[in-house]
Amino acid sequence: MDDSKSKTPPRQAVVVKDENGITTSYVGDDHCPYCGAELTMATDTHGEGNIPEPGSLMLCSKCVQVCRLDQELRLEKMPVEEYLSIPSEEREEIERVRRAMRAFNKLKAEQATN
Ligand SMILES: [Zn+2]
Repeated sequence: MDDSKSKTPPRQAVVVKDENGITTSYVGDDHCPYCGAELTMATDTHGEGNIPEPGSLMLCSKCVQVCRLDQELRLEKMPVEEYLSIPSEEREEIERVRRAMRAFNKLKAEQATN
């Protein structure tokens, strides 16, 4: 472990809204705790411009696993038992987005091979 790298300044979330009203938030460079994909930004699935904060859930755009922001706004794995304790209607919404993202990733992969 390189100690100098862990002494980064506190991270801050920045939310940008485009002309279509789609909000994208940036919390700085990070990697998916599951697949290691580089993740630098997130799109609010509700389009409400919610500012990412500790405890916010994030979906990896590559492996579509559920991640969570820790106290320093770094991605951490979401423990399965905690995920299952989320109200079922919220979890349904998350699963709906995950299905859409998987379908999108599949389409992208198919186009890349053609
Ligand atoms: Zn991932």
